[in-house]
Amino acid sequence: MSNNEKLEFIMAAQKNIALIAHDNKKQELIDWCLKNKEILEHHFLCGTGTTAKMVAERTGLPVRGFNSGPLGGDQQIGARIVDGKIDIVIFFSDPLTAQPHDPDVKALLRIAQVYDIPMANNKATADFIITSPYMDGTYTHDLSDFKKIVSERAKSL
Ligand code: PGA
Repeated sequence: MSNNEKLEFIMAAQKNIALIAHDNKKQELIDWCLKNKEILEHHFLCGTGTTAKMVAERTGLPVRGFNSGPLGGDQQIGARIVDGKIDIVIFFSDPLTAQPHDPDVKALLRIAQVYDIPMANNKATADFIITSPYMDGTYTHDLSDFKKIVSERAKSL
């Protein structure tokens, strides 16, 4: 696939932020959301089912919940990235515990890379993202022109 053709995609000042935490990291994510509540309340939050419910209940922030991660929630968030409906992913993953839905987690990582989505997999990265000047402003992604790539592939194959 050629990456030469680029399209600009502008991320608005009010971000769609997806929150995900593996079980051993849920408390850490709740604490992080509490610490950053004043920033997060200016954005739209969503997350995998259990994470979304726990963050909403314990911080008072509104969080739209998808399915639980092992039941497809990570894939739902990935699909929303493809649709341009997620701007940032905060995913406190557990590097020390095997996950039954590891392929879904890898797929989410990959699709976030494809669409140039900032994705934190630990607290330090999340801290850097949440304090970025881009949080209050727009950000322009250089994305490959995927429609053009598809049309050229369909012609050439
Ligand atoms: P959960 O899913 O928020 O439903 O626990 C998170 C995950 O393990 O991906």
